[in-house]
Amino acid sequence: MKIGWIGLGNMGIPMAGNLLVAGYEVKVWNRTPSKAEPLLAQGATLAGSLAELAECDIVFTMVSDDEAVKAVYTGPDGLLTSGARGTLAVDMSTVSPQTSRYLAEQCRQAGFRFLDAPVSGSVGPAKEGKLVIMVGGDESDYTQVKPLLDKLGKLALHLGPNGAGTSAKLAINLLLGITVQGAAETLLFARSMGIEAEQMLTIIRESAVGTPLIRGKEASILADNYPAAFALKHMAKDLRLAREEGVSTPLAESAAACYRAALEDGLGDLDVMAILRFLDRQ
Ligand code: NAP
Repeated sequence: MKIGWIGLGNMGIPMAGNLLVAGYEVKVWNRTPSKAEPLLAQGATLAGSLAELAECDIVFTMVSDDEAVKAVYTGPDGLLTSGARGTLAVDMSTVSPQTSRYLAEQCRQAGFRFLDAPVSGSVGPAKEGKLVIMVGGDESDYTQVKPLLDKLGKLALHLGPNGAGTSAKLAINLLLGITVQGAAETLLFARSMGIEAEQMLTIIRESAVGTPLIRGKEASILADNYPAAFALKHMAKDLRLAREEGVSTPLAESAAACYRAALEDGLGDLDVMAILRFLDRQ
């Protein structure tokens, strides 16, 4: 089986790497080709164009946002410009459900099949093959790709037609955004009362509200250093997409405004946990 992989950012590199480790033949493409080097060293081959990947049986896409997926699928030199032979395209990016349904229709017209299959879990779970994968599209296409999804994640769920996967993803990321901001506000409040971050993190870790998410951010918080595992700009994007889907609950509104302001303050390329630095500055 020939696999294509488009998008070699923080997530795409370890995910495509897991397919190589599992023994699949993987051909990769990235807008910035030099980022493919670690995968080429692992045995991947580099595609000369996006259209070339239509020859694969299954093509995964893992790029930034709605604009990026539209560029790689329907752009002038995009994947869909080639003549397909039933290729299954699996978009794992976090985009709007509307974009997933649009891409599904564009794929259908171009002779491709399409699944939206975004993931929950950051770079650590991506490296360990322990992502949670939420899938929308035809069940038969899901069944075909499931053995590969099992190399990428600890759970893959088929949720309904195209757009169901991205809808579930926006919902889980609403909780992510609220949780990270909640942790940041808690630490700042504690500090204002004389409780240091290290002490408060220990309390959170041992309490019922401690989560692997916050535990994973402890080192960053203590060092006040936020290299992106999940970039803040992506969190701001996901909360914006949730609002565009009509989510306007009190915490969703507040978190969307806060991450947007942090983005405008220049923190977008740092990790989502840098919301702490932003709130501290306020
Ligand atoms: P990233 O590190 O910022 O990488 C983004 C990728 O998209 C790069 O390969 C980039 O290419 C490509 N790209 C951006 N604009 C493009 C365009 N116009 N045309 C073609 N390619 C384009 O992002 P990531 O962290 O891997 O995240 C990828 C997706 O997964 C996002 O939708 C994100 O919300 C989602 N996600 C991320 C995490 C996480 O923890 N990081 C977790 C779950 C879901 P270049 O290399 O050329 O810039």
